[in-house]
Amino acid sequence: EVRRIPRAEHPISRSQFTQATLRTLYGLKDAGYQAYVVGGGVRDLLAGETPKDFDIATDAHPEDVKRIFRSCRLIGRRFVICHVRWGGEVVEVTTFRGVITDEHERDETGRILADNEYGTLETDAFRRDFTVNALYYDIRDYAIVDFAGGLHDMQARLIRLIGDPELRYREDPVRMLRAVRIANKLSFEIEKDTAAPIPKLAGLLREIPPARLFDEVIKLLQSREAVANLEGLHRYGLLKQILPVTDSAMGDARYGEFLRQALVNTAERLANDQTVSPAFLYAALLWPGVVREYQRLLQAEGQHPNDAISQASERVLARTLSTIMIPKRFSLPMREIWALQPRLEQTRGGRAKRLLTHPRFRAAYDFLLLRAACGEVPQALADGWTQAQTGELAAPEPDDAADGDE
Ligand code: ATP
Ligand code: MG
Repeated sequence: EVRRIPRAEHPISRSQFTQATLRTLYGLKDAGYQAYVVGGGVRDLLAGETPKDFDIATDAHPEDVKRIFRSCRLIGRRFVICHVRWGGEVVEVTTFRGVITDEHERDETGRILADNEYGTLETDAFRRDFTVNALYYDIRDYAIVDFAGGLHDMQARLIRLIGDPELRYREDPVRMLRAVRIANKLSFEIEKDTAAPIPKLAGLLREIPPARLFDEVIKLLQSREAVANLEGLHRYGLLKQILPVTDSAMGDARYGEFLRQALVNTAERLANDQTVSPAFLYAALLWPGVVREYQRLLQAEGQHPNDAISQASERVLARTLSTIMIPKRFSLPMREIWALQPRLEQTRGGRAKRLLTHPRFRAAYDFLLLRAACGEVPQALADGWTQAQTGELAAPEPDDAADGDE
């Protein structure tokens, strides 16, 4: 049954929404439509976290929203979403979605193919993934509307799918990734029946378009909870489906540590408002696989390090692209980071100076520090490059004379 929690009985205040969100809500309301804040915004405020953004649900159809807001852009084909722009801020507005019935056309794994009907506040609520994501803040009286028991689960600190878990995962397997991410973000548990089917259904991620997986992995691993997310993905058998190369390194003493350290660094940079690049992240995630192939090409085939690294990179990337998309603008710098690693290990004297001015030197050096931290290369090598940058030394001497660079 539906619960309405009046303003006096919940802690969310209008002042916690952005100006852009409020303007959009009032624009819709003044035009005679319903307007609610829903999803992560409401959920995170109730949990005492800072929301990333606020999504709005309304009974206004996209054409109506476009008439009300001149800055509105319609996005998507299957189900249209409205982006309302206020200066630099974009507010996402979606029309209530309709019920899913047995009539809907599904593919052989249960994913819904065509689904574009509009609905009511109630049908919209039951279309959402988790109970805590289906709480609506009503701009008319500032009450919170709860159809699915989200407030109970907020208090119990549980991530629980609405409806039958297996069915809901089959409808959209990305929900398995969202469960891990949102649970870690709020330090909630995944409710038992919601967690149970994940290992069995993990293989459904293979059906997800590689570009969508890329976006989800960025949300999971370029985050403050990146380490917990990586462990969670591994534990539930999800990582094996998306990044098998990374998954097989998780149990390894050195490379498991390397991966965790890479994600800790990412999280620290985010905490300090520094930029983090998907190229660096993917360079780290796939490195354990690249190294294995690199060593093999060096030892078994006697290749030159520069050739071996480039061939190893190519192979690991090709294997990875069969499950997940890595856009060229990230995979190119990623490969440069890798290509510079043998050079940082070999180079000395005057040629070291040239590396210092390489556009990718900084990222490659940061990467070398990670490798030193997990004991893959001597700390002295990393220190040498640290000093080389401050001009204290020309460049580090390599331990073993890896020759043939010229
Ligand atoms: P965050 O913004 O912190 O990533 P969020 O829950 O707001 O988390 P969004 O992707 O912004 O995630 O989605 C907004 C809302 O849309 C969700 O809270 C949920 O109600 C609904 N939603 C998103 N993805 C799905 C999905 N795969 N299935 C069902 N509902 C979804
Ligand atoms: Mg959101």
